[in-house]
Amino acid sequence: MPDRTLPDGRFTFRLIVGMFLVSCLVFGGLIWHVFHSYRVTRQIIRQEMRLKEFAWEIVYLDEALTMSARIAVLTLEPEWMERYYRFEQQFDEVIEEAQKLVPEVRHNQAVLQAAGTNDKLVAMEHKAIKEVEEGRFEEAQEILFGGAYGIQKEIYADAVKRFSDQLRIRAEEILSGEHDRAVFSIAVISVLIPLLFFAWTAVLFVLRRWQLAVQENSRLAERRLMEKEAAKEALEMDISERKKAEEALRESQTRLQLVAHATNDAVWDWDFRTNQVWWNDGICAIFGYQPSEVISDSAWWKDHIHSGDRDQVTSGVHAAIEGRGEFWSAEYRFRRADNTYAYVYNRGYVVRESSGKAIRMIGAIVDISDRKQVEEQLLHDAFHDLVTGLPNRALFIDRLGRSIGRAKRRSDYLFAVLFIDVDRFKVINDSLGHAVGDQLLKTITERLLSSLRPSDTLARFGGDKFTVLLEDIGDVNDATRVADRIQKELTVPFNLGKQEVFITVSIGISQSATGYDQPEDFLRDAETAMYRAKTLGRARYQVFDTEMHARAVSLLQMETDLRRAIERNEFEVYYQPIISLKTGLLSGFESLVRWRHPQRGILLPYDFLPILQEMGLIIQLDHHVLMESCRQMKEWQKKFPACSSVNMNVNLSAKHFAHPGFSDFVDQVLQETGLNPKTLKLEIPESGIMEHAEFVEVALVQLKAKKVSLSIDDFGTGNSSLSAIHRFPIETLKIDRSFVSMMDQKQENLEIVRAIIVLAHNLSMDVVAEGIETEPQLVLLRDLGCEYGQGFLFSKPVPSKTAEGFLSPSPKQFIAKTKASNSRIA
Ligand code: C2E
Ligand code: CA
Ligand code: CA
Repeated sequence: MPDRTLPDGRFTFRLIVGMFLVSCLVFGGLIWHVFHSYRVTRQIIRQEMRLKEFAWEIVYLDEALTMSARIAVLTLEPEWMERYYRFEQQFDEVIEEAQKLVPEVRHNQAVLQAAGTNDKLVAMEHKAIKEVEEGRFEEAQEILFGGAYGIQKEIYADAVKRFSDQLRIRAEEILSGEHDRAVFSIAVISVLIPLLFFAWTAVLFVLRRWQLAVQENSRLAERRLMEKEAAKEALEMDISERKKAEEALRESQTRLQLVAHATNDAVWDWDFRTNQVWWNDGICAIFGYQPSEVISDSAWWKDHIHSGDRDQVTSGVHAAIEGRGEFWSAEYRFRRADNTYAYVYNRGYVVRESSGKAIRMIGAIVDISDRKQVEEQLLHDAFHDLVTGLPNRALFIDRLGRSIGRAKRRSDYLFAVLFIDVDRFKVINDSLGHAVGDQLLKTITERLLSSLRPSDTLARFGGDKFTVLLEDIGDVNDATRVADRIQKELTVPFNLGKQEVFITVSIGISQSATGYDQPEDFLRDAETAMYRAKTLGRARYQVFDTEMHARAVSLLQMETDLRRAIERNEFEVYYQPIISLKTGLLSGFESLVRWRHPQRGILLPYDFLPILQEMGLIIQLDHHVLMESCRQMKEWQKKFPACSSVNMNVNLSAKHFAHPGFSDFVDQVLQETGLNPKTLKLEIPESGIMEHAEFVEVALVQLKAKKVSLSIDDFGTGNSSLSAIHRFPIETLKIDRSFVSMMDQKQENLEIVRAIIVLAHNLSMDVVAEGIETEPQLVLLRDLGCEYGQGFLFSKPVPSKTAEGFLSPSPKQFIAKTKASNSRIA
């Protein structure tokens, strides 16, 4: 900044001129004074000298007058008389001159006195001279040397002396006065000169300072000028740029307005410089405002944001403005005219100057309330079960996870997980329909909830499975008490429309004391305990214990092993002969799978099939067995032509029938192996047929059309009636081993077997008796007219090598022909 207190050039000029004039005056004065003093002093000194001279001259002339008058009297020489007159004249002149110089002397008494005596002396001298001229020398001498003259002369000489003294004193007086004046003026000069010098130094110093400041100021001014010049240039450029930008803006604004009119959204344009917000009609249309209610101040907008979202939204906007980004967007709640809130999506574009400074923001608000509602519903659905409205698996696991955390922090906090499975729910669902099944689930939910505290979590785990999280319990007995209560609550029959339904549940319990980290571990234990409860006869609860754990672990191990077994094909097919009880000859084989476990050796189906079934791998296995059995049979038939009518019985899980491509697969196997379809018989367990009745019927009809035979396995164990089975195209019925095994000892079994055989024959089916182990059993079955038999009495299932022995070179005779009636084994 330039120093505004600095004097300008005119002031400086005036100061210097003033100083100069003062200095001139002072110096002029001094010079004049010195010159004047010199002149006065010279004059004074001259005057003084003159006065002193006069003093001497007067004394001398006085003497000279007397002398010359007396000499003239004595010598009578005219020359001296002349001299006398000359001296007289001179004396008068000196007196006159002295009087001129010192006027006050005229009045001096001495002078007056001298003048008086002088006149007398002169008169006497003049008289003497006259006496001489007239020749009276005596008289003349008498006058001049007489006593009168002498007295006069003495008086006069004294007066002259005093007069000359006075002159001398006066001269000295003048001189000493002049001396004082000279001392004074020297003193004045010696003060004035340093003062002047000091004044000039001060002035010069100040001037120098001013000069420097002025230089600095001018430098500053120059720089500012340059800056201004640059700014001006920039401004000019800016203006032209801005003009261009404004042009573009106008264009885009026109476009914006067109868009704003065309769109259904609330379009806004916020100018940061004025803090004004322009809105299109959308703001009124969407949120129900009157145009007069919409205020074009950004505060209006902020004010209408839900207080819970406001801070987040405004800080987001500021971040966008201050940052370098172009876009800002947010979802928040915006107040409608009726004071309800709409969910909106707001997106804005930040417009910046070339310097990067944000000047405005343009954007649009879209009402996303509908979408938000759907989202919230979806979110709710994602964590809740649709049928019962209960938390689902995901939410339950989340809550369980929190409980695990709490138990880790607080040693006194215990919880338990209940895994509830409705026994035989499938039967109800299948027989009464899904709608009723859903109704039942809802009612079960209500009952379960009524047995729990509000703080407990009940979740539906899919199907007929529920889980409960019991929080903050005292010990495991609290959990078993809840399980008891649930069981009791559910014993009351359910009224579903006209139907009254009884249900039971199996419950597994796991507790926090096990100290797992993962929710899944607790659930797994509870589920294991639930299955244990089911195995032990259902309608009960089981608390998970370590033995169950061991079982669960071995199950897990088994699953791993089975996957590997499928991959490496560790399965083998064994064959058990089926014998015609009429002829005693081998009539066919049943193929039975075996697992050659690398450590445990040969494993029977009961050990692994249920697990494989649960793992969903049974189909893969069946495909393998079917292919291998057909291939083997074809090979044997080729090798032993006499055996071409021996058939192959292959077990199939009923699950296959749910697969649409099943019959095609059988086709493919037959084509690949070239086996005669008539020599293939598929065995389907009775339970499976009823479970998948609608698919099975279609599939069986298709298979029948391909000339493949079908038989019902394990007949008597399921709850199907023979009349129901009648509609399926089935040729053979296999009586389950459980009936055969005790038929020679238990009359009841015998009767059942008899009834089955009679019924089967009525329906034109053959009968195969499974599990014949004793001769009496064989005899009884033959007597009852059972066509075929199979059992350890004839042979256990054997590997293909051994089985081949039963075919070579023709079908083996298992029952001796001669004693066929006595059932003798060959
Ligand atoms: P299943 O179809 O009823 O097969 C007959 C079972 O009874 C065989 O058991 C056989 O070894 C056994 N058995 C036969 N005669 C006697 C006897 O006199 N006394 C006794 N105690 N048992 C006898 P296995 O081989 O253990 O097979 C068990 C079940 O596994 C089979 O019952 C069948 O349902 C199933 N299975 C076997 N292989 C397959 C297969 O490849 N696929 C399917 N889906 N199931 C199979
Ligand atoms: Ca079978
Ligand atoms: Ca069977």
